[in-house]
Amino acid sequence: MLYKSTRTNKKAEFSSAYVIKNGLATDGGLYVPEAIPNITFKDIELLCKKDYPNRAADILSKFLTDYSYDELFEDCQASYSDVKFPGGAAPLQFPADNQAILELWHGPTAAFKDMALQIMPRLLSRALEKTGEKRTAYILVATSGDTGKAALEGYCDVANTKITVFYPVDGVSKVQKLQMATQTGNNVSVCAIKGNFDDAQSGVKNIFGNKEVADELNKSGHFFSSANSINWGRLAPQIVYYVSAYCDLVNSNKIKIGDIVNICVPTGNFGNILAAYIAKLAGLPFGKLICASNSNNVLTDFLTNGTYDRNREFHITMSPSMDILISSNLERLLYFVGGADLTSKYMSELKANGKYTVADDIFKKIQESFVGYYADESETAQTIKKMYENHKYLCDTHTAVAISCADKYMQETGDNTLIITASTASPYKFARDVYKSLTNSLPTGDLEALDELNTLTGEQIPYPLVDIDKRLVRFENVIDIDDMISEVLKSI
Ligand SMILES: *Cc1c(COP(=O)(O)O)cnc(C)c1O
Repeated sequence: MLYKSTRTNKKAEFSSAYVIKNGLATDGGLYVPEAIPNITFKDIELLCKKDYPNRAADILSKFLTDYSYDELFEDCQASYSDVKFPGGAAPLQFPADNQAILELWHGPTAAFKDMALQIMPRLLSRALEKTGEKRTAYILVATSGDTGKAALEGYCDVANTKITVFYPVDGVSKVQKLQMATQTGNNVSVCAIKGNFDDAQSGVKNIFGNKEVADELNKSGHFFSSANSINWGRLAPQIVYYVSAYCDLVNSNKIKIGDIVNICVPTGNFGNILAAYIAKLAGLPFGKLICASNSNNVLTDFLTNGTYDRNREFHITMSPSMDILISSNLERLLYFVGGADLTSKYMSELKANGKYTVADDIFKKIQESFVGYYADESETAQTIKKMYENHKYLCDTHTAVAISCADKYMQETGDNTLIITASTASPYKFARDVYKSLTNSLPTGDLEALDELNTLTGEQIPYPLVDIDKRLVRFENVIDIDDMISEVLKSI
């Protein structure tokens, strides 16, 4: 299986190791496989009998064909072990009869980014070997909170890698900030910027595209690589849990193989939901993919009227990992439904005017699979309260957005097909807002909120967040957007 850029019609020529190593294509596009492999009902039947690491190795081996099965199996075993994910990597919960919640946050940073970022550094490490690379891979990350910590945790002290994380100074929760500021490891650094997530992401993209910086790096034996969800190494492992969830539904007798289920995903950069779409293209019987947004509802509008328009007010919400106005992975969807020429055209319109409108036939194809809904702050809070009071199910703010949107979808359409809703963070990662939603009052402080939420509900605090305030703070730097380049050059 070879890979190509979303912005060219040239024949696919890159191995998966190459695209994982390089992240972004040289023409600015994102890497996509030349074809989507099949996952048949027979495959699903066999996968049903396996545990998560085995399912992951089987599915990844269809996409990453230049990795041997043994290599993938070894990496999956290490990444999704019981030590890293106590109680299993991606368990399903059933708070109500026709509600299946896919919990993706049982890993080392208590957010779903671990599902990909535990394994990706291992894949990169092998990719350096496979491509004969002698230089150190320098990972630059722009984060709205969860990616940064998950990447730091994944890359920490991995040989031949170095990582710098930029985050918006007022765009992450106090717990997220502490998680990053206290990161251990000799190859890591963390830096806040005066701007929002889109500023951080554009800043990183600009550094990636800067020839002089690249030359400096090269001279000192480094090259840039990305851990953002634009990297195929992030996306591929996310396909696995949708297939795995389908198997678990079969195993728990909720469905039979072949039955259709809908998927609802709290969406920011469009990576998580795109992975569900790829699983669908591969043959999983998925019906509608419900794209759930918060008040930054640029995707809801796009999926409703075909115009993507980022020229709008940016809202800071209690689901900060979805506070995004440019959803980079949407580019891959445009490519899958419209091909490289249209993708290039829309992306240059987006760059020039901040908006584009897709052609009618393209929009139709998108709407065959996707619907968009959003939940505002008060609906999100009400959902947290309702889920806890009615079902004793404690969910975080991002998951609440998705549950609210799934409810709206069912009410508006009357489609009662079972929905798998992705749960992307532990409620303790956003304890302040979860506590506030439940009690209508604020906890004593953001950190005290962890214990107070625990006292209120009795739900266990996940292991990565226990005693977070007692760890040594290592990174407190706040810089201007214009200083991102010098910050990078400083650390090589
Ligand atoms: C990253 C993140 C999201 C958004 O996922 P995308 O793949 O960017 O769409 C949603 N919820 C949480 C908790 C996240 O960390």
